[in-house]
Amino acid sequence: MTLFGGIEAGGTKFVCAVGSGPDHILAEARFPTTTPAETLGRAIAFFDEQRKQHEIAAFGIASFGPVDADPSSPTFGYITTTPKVGWPNTDIVGAFARQYGVPVGLDTDVNGAALGEHRWGAAQGLDTFVYWTIGTGLGGGGMVNGKLIHGLLHPEMGHMVVPHDRNRDPFPGNCPYHGDCLEGLAAGPALEARWGQRGETLPPDHEAWLLEAHYLALGLVNVITIVSPQRIILGGGVMAQPSVFPAVRSEVQRLLNGYIQMPAILSEIDRYIVPPALGNQAGVLGAIAMAQDALAAA
Ligand code: ZN
Repeated sequence: MTLFGGIEAGGTKFVCAVGSGPDHILAEARFPTTTPAETLGRAIAFFDEQRKQHEIAAFGIASFGPVDADPSSPTFGYITTTPKVGWPNTDIVGAFARQYGVPVGLDTDVNGAALGEHRWGAAQGLDTFVYWTIGTGLGGGGMVNGKLIHGLLHPEMGHMVVPHDRNRDPFPGNCPYHGDCLEGLAAGPALEARWGQRGETLPPDHEAWLLEAHYLALGLVNVITIVSPQRIILGGGVMAQPSVFPAVRSEVQRLLNGYIQMPAILSEIDRYIVPPALGNQAGVLGAIAMAQDALAAA
């Protein structure tokens, strides 16, 4: 069986795996994201060790961004202008391509997770869908007409502008670029800054969650009206709070106000806005799916 290396390069942790799909992961390693030299060094040490026993045909990297995923660009394979200290202009694809001499695919972490869900999870059989992760940041990716979304760069859905009622929510937002963009209002660090405690310590009936659901629903209504996704998958630590999913679904219905007359929204929204079927493995499995595609394209 052909084996692949998957790297979920997150802003807080790296997940590396060798395998060919959700039922066939031979080895996995998780470690914190520190400096590029130390973090990529640990990843390469893991794969060097694995390669003593297994041949790895290609690699896929699902990375925090922004990344340059355009193969015709001179900076293809780089993490570009990230605010993450030490990481701007890091040639993450080159690190693996030089070491192993096999195809290496790259996309954003959220497009990677979307690809994983498309191949093996909650988006199987769909050709237009959206994947969001709401955690230390808020990122969105997905497919339109069967292709992962790219264009000028790649989607940055977390930085969309949503209405901010400062009477209801005086918190100014904490995006370093925009203040109260969606990420600045609704990602995990915004929850912590607004309420003075980490999201996972807020009780399920805390008013924080209705406000959170309101912001997420505002963003999702924008996405629904622009992309017309067949399904929306929401992952990340914030979505682990059980009261958020039902609140987001009903708020999306309230804001759309009957305009989109489709059963998926009117009566089957529990199957329309869903958690990732691959759980917290979506990212690394998506990276393996990306490696499969990189080999097929080589
Ligand atoms: Zn922003």
